[in-house]
Amino acid sequence: MPRLELLLSPQEIKQVVDSLAREIKDNYGDKNPLLVGVLKGCFVFMADLVRCLDMPLEMEFLSLSSYGQRRTVSCGKVEVMRGLRAPVKGRHVLVVEDIVDTGLTLRFTLNYLERRKPASVKVCALFDKPARRQTEVPIDYRGFIVPDVFVVGYGLDYDEQFRQLPGLYSLQEKS
Ligand code: 5GP
Repeated sequence: MPRLELLLSPQEIKQVVDSLAREIKDNYGDKNPLLVGVLKGCFVFMADLVRCLDMPLEMEFLSLSSYGQRRTVSCGKVEVMRGLRAPVKGRHVLVVEDIVDTGLTLRFTLNYLERRKPASVKVCALFDKPARRQTEVPIDYRGFIVPDVFVVGYGLDYDEQFRQLPGLYSLQEKS
């Protein structure tokens, strides 16, 4: 079994999700934004965030993959597993990301969206790991800056395990 160490408690995460939601609500008002969640990692964050957003909004999901099984480093190649169904043209889009690491997935997502001519695109990322950034990406709503360690929980996995943990943990593989 890999070793897990608690980095952020569920209470600490909840406080920050609440405050991100307040900021988003203040900025969007009644613009009815299209929230685009990047699967799979975003599902817990998206579910908690939208339930704090007392305003009109719509949701869509983009399924991308950049990590292979048992990998704890990005392979740098992003593939679309399931594209967007809703039209994006003229919409105010808010990308909801679990974690930004190299930035390659977010860069790919932003290019994918820009081609579809939205009215605006902003980014909300709960966790930001800037140490390993390979490309510059904008983050308009940032939850936490996390250290350069592999993290799991709150939607994030290791080999599809640990997504259900309510806190955020650092994971160390046993050699
Ligand atoms: P990036 O393209 O920015 O390197 O990585 C984006 C995706 O890689 C995230 O959406 C997430 O699925 C995965 N990822 C990046 N860092 C971590 C990490 O520390 N833990 C886990 N579980 N996934 C990560």
